[in-house]
Amino acid sequence: MTAPFGKFFLPGPTEVLPEIAKAQEAPMIGHRGAKTEALLARLDEPLKAAFRTANPVYIAASSATGLMEAAIRNGVRRKVLCLCNGSFSERFAKIAAACGKEVVKAEVPMGQAFEAEQVKALLANSGADSVTAAHSETSTGVLNPIAEIAQVVLAAPDVFFLVDAVTSLAGSPVETDAWGLDFVLTGSQKALALPPGLAFGVASPRMLERARTLPDRGIYLDLIPYDEAIRKRQTPYTPALSLMYALEAQLNRIAADGGIEKRWARHNAMRERVEKWVAKEAGAKLGLAYLPREGRRSWTVSCLKLPEGGKALGGAVAKAMDAKFGYTIGAGYGKLKDGTIRIGHMGDHTVAEVEALLGALEEVLKSV
Ligand SMILES: *Cc1c(COP(=O)(O)O)cnc(C)c1O
Repeated sequence: MTAPFGKFFLPGPTEVLPEIAKAQEAPMIGHRGAKTEALLARLDEPLKAAFRTANPVYIAASSATGLMEAAIRNGVRRKVLCLCNGSFSERFAKIAAACGKEVVKAEVPMGQAFEAEQVKALLANSGADSVTAAHSETSTGVLNPIAEIAQVVLAAPDVFFLVDAVTSLAGSPVETDAWGLDFVLTGSQKALALPPGLAFGVASPRMLERARTLPDRGIYLDLIPYDEAIRKRQTPYTPALSLMYALEAQLNRIAADGGIEKRWARHNAMRERVEKWVAKEAGAKLGLAYLPREGRRSWTVSCLKLPEGGKALGGAVAKAMDAKFGYTIGAGYGKLKDGTIRIGHMGDHTVAEVEALLGALEEVLKSV
């Protein structure tokens, strides 16, 4: 039950510190009462700080995919350009089609990012009223240049930018307001290092305006009630109170620890540690390489290609890491299962823990 912290490196869910998990044990309170209002009031500023926004942050009792669907239902009028470069960005396109929206699907090869100039060309004459993207595409370890893409999206008249920041938020810079993003969402179980079950989202004022005009928002994922409720320090439906206790404990920890920028910097240092290992140390000798190019690598998940034609396959490497050293890492995702491994260095992990993991990975790769 009490395995030492620092061995669980899945790219979500991430390892949860014992004291954060423990915070969930606090007793229930009336979800329509003053105590819940006080709790939501205490969460307000720290959540805005994590999203870098002045707008209220919605808290939904759902996994992140729930708010991906909310983004589509509330943000797409008729036609959406979906930037697909991996399984999660692809999910946006699937949701949009399932919600009856017209989808223009743009694809680049797995491991590549979308560039702003490319998006500008894709948007021109597309007739799309919105664009979706995954900031950090967890299946390939790619970090899309969202700030630059946002500039070309914002320059197009009345086109909204809906961003999945599930593995970037709280692990690398996400500037919701400064970048002009219309909807940004994340889940509790990634870089925020909380148990799974909560999703968080922020909508721009013009997104809410558009949402009010859209007929098919449904009920549970209609953002208007979320917006109206949070402004009164309430939630439209029963909140996942225990998870919110853990959230408060974690946001307090982040603040006491030096704030969100310091958290970003620690993730960047973990990424740099893996990069150095792959470029110059044992990783290079063993024939490993990054799937994404330099400058387009996620700060929270490193997706590494195993030597081509080698015996080591993603699933087997992940299994051996567990069997021999008690580490959990990710095999490749979907089509990349055999050819890559993914190290989720996100949440509350440290460079020292990454260092130890890389030592174990070296041993495993030498032996398979
Ligand atoms: C994990 C993940 C999701 C899906 O989150 P759920 O909480 O499983 O719904 C979506 N997008 C990205 C980029 C992710 O990493």
